[in-house]
Amino acid sequence: MLVSKAVSDNLTRASWIRRMFEEGARLKQERGADKVFDFTLGNPEIEPPAAVLAAARRVLDSDVHHLHAYMPNAGHPKVRDAVARRVSAATGLSYTADHILMTVGAGAALNTVLKAILNPGDEVITVAPYFAEYGFYAENHGGRLVVVPPRADLTPDVQKISSAITPRTRAVLLNSPNNPSGVIYPKSAFVELEAVLTRAAQPIVLISDEPYKALVFDDVIPPEVPPLVTRSIIATSWSKSLALPGERIGYLAFSPRMPEARELFEACTFTSRVLGFVNAPALWQWVVAEVGDQVIDVAPYREKRDLIYEGLTRIGYRCVKPQGAFYVFPETPIPDDVAFVSMLAEEGVLTVPGSGFGAPGHIRISLTVERDTVVRALPGFERAFERARS
Ligand code: PLP
Repeated sequence: MLVSKAVSDNLTRASWIRRMFEEGARLKQERGADKVFDFTLGNPEIEPPAAVLAAARRVLDSDVHHLHAYMPNAGHPKVRDAVARRVSAATGLSYTADHILMTVGAGAALNTVLKAILNPGDEVITVAPYFAEYGFYAENHGGRLVVVPPRADLTPDVQKISSAITPRTRAVLLNSPNNPSGVIYPKSAFVELEAVLTRAAQPIVLISDEPYKALVFDDVIPPEVPPLVTRSIIATSWSKSLALPGERIGYLAFSPRMPEARELFEACTFTSRVLGFVNAPALWQWVVAEVGDQVIDVAPYREKRDLIYEGLTRIGYRCVKPQGAFYVFPETPIPDDVAFVSMLAEEGVLTVPGSGFGAPGHIRISLTVERDTVVRALPGFERAFERARS
C-alpha cells in the first residue's frame, strides 16, 4: 500500500464524515436540493465586502514591480507592520513587524507553530468541543492532542487543564469564539490559565486560535488574550471576518511579553517555509494591509442565530446561546448523537455529530445558509426531536 498507515488509519476514523456527505448527496438527489437543509459546512455563503474586492483589483492593476514576487518568508515588512499596528492598538502591547508572521490562513498558522514547538510525543492540551482538525495538526508534527472536558456552559475548566499538564505539555490551544459552540471564553478563564502556566515546570505557550474574533453578537467584546497570558501566540485569519476562506490569508502574532518571542518568530519563519507554504499569498497580503480591519455584516448571522436558538429551545432542545461565530451546538435528545444525526437526515436536515468535535451528545448546526433555510428546517428539527423522545 502506498498510503502511509497513519494516513490510512485517519481516513478510516474520518470515514463517517464521508458517509455523511454521501448521505446528504443521496438525499438531495432523491428529494430535490430545495427539500434538503444542509447545515454541515462552515463556508461563508456571503461575498467579501466590496472594499476588499476593490483593494484586490487595485493590487492587480498596479504597475509597481515585484508585487507578486518572493519576499521575506515571514511576509512583506510593510504588511507585517500594518498588522502589528492593529494588534498593538487592540492589545495595548508593543507588537512590531518582527512579532507578525503572515500565513496561509489559520490552518497554516497552527501547523507552522506546532511544527516549531513539538518534539515527538509532546502534548497539546485543548478543551472540548474543539475544531476537529486539531488532532491531525498535532499528529502532523509528532505531537498528541489531549482533550479536556469543558464546564456545563462549554467554557474551559481551567482546573481540568491544570490537571492535564505533564512534563510533555508544550502548548494549550484554545479557540474563542468557538467552533462548534459559538461560545466566547470569559476573561476569567485566561486569568486563571495564566496562573496555571506561570506555575508550570516548563514553558508552556497558549495558542489562541481566533478566526471568529470579529464575528460577535449582542455587543459582547471577546477578551484580548495577550495582555492576560504572558506566553501567548495569536493564530488567526481573515477567512471568516472577510468571507474569503478560499484565498488563504492569516497570521501568527507572537506576544512581545514572551521571553521567547524572537526565537519563536525565527523558528516559525523557517517552519512556514519548509512546510511548503514558503510565504502567504502576496496579493492578499497587500489587500489585508489596506482593508484588513473591515468586517462582514454580522447582522444576518445574529438574526439566524436568534431564529434557530429560539426555535430549538421552544421545541425542547437544550442549548448554550452562541455569542459569536456562526454555529449552534445544541444537545441531542438522545445520548447517541450519530443516531440522532441520522434521524434528522431522514427529515431532510443535515448536521454534524458532536462526537467529531470531542463532545458526543451534541450536534453542530452551521448558519452559513439562507435565512429561509433555517425557517423551513425547524419543523424537521421538531419532528426528529419528537421521534427521538417517543
Ligand atoms: N480554526 C478554527 C476554529 C476553524 O473553524 C477554522 C476553519 O473553519 C480554522 C482554524 C482554519 O481556518 P482557515 O480557513 O483560515 O485556515
